[in-house]
Amino acid sequence: MAYDYDSGNIFAKILRGEIPNDTVLETGHSLAFNDIGPQAPVHVLVIPKGAYVNWDHFVIEASAEEIADFARAIHAVVEKLGLEPGSGGQGYRLIMNAGEAGLQEVPHLHAHILSGRPLGKLVAEG
Ligand code: 5GP
Repeated sequence: MAYDYDSGNIFAKILRGEIPNDTVLETGHSLAFNDIGPQAPVHVLVIPKGAYVNWDHFVIEASAEEIADFARAIHAVVEKLGLEPGSGGQGYRLIMNAGEAGLQEVPHLHAHILSGRPLGKLVAEG
């Protein structure tokens, strides 16, 4: 297997209930909660409950049900927060960092949903 999951990471601890989180939404296979260090007025993290390091690991090993649940959980957060452009919302940016170039800090797959202000350039200058 290309990925070894470290069950000591902070999101694994959140999923085990060992540290608290500010939950936005929970589904059968996914959890959404506010980021502890928000980079915008809206900064929500969505994670699968399964032990997946990043998006690639998830797509290779997760079940179709888990993948569908994760995708729908992201949409459910967007809908709950009134951000959906098709319904008059202001929109948002969806980010998933992976590996070194992506500067992923927490080795459990997570999608960042950012909104609440114009978010500027897609990536920082190198
Ligand atoms: P990454 O750089 O891995 O894509 O993003 C990790 C994110 O996790 C960061 O935005 C960081 O603020 C957030 N984070 C780190 N530790 C915690 C925590 O204990 N609770 C919450 N809610 N977010 C955290």
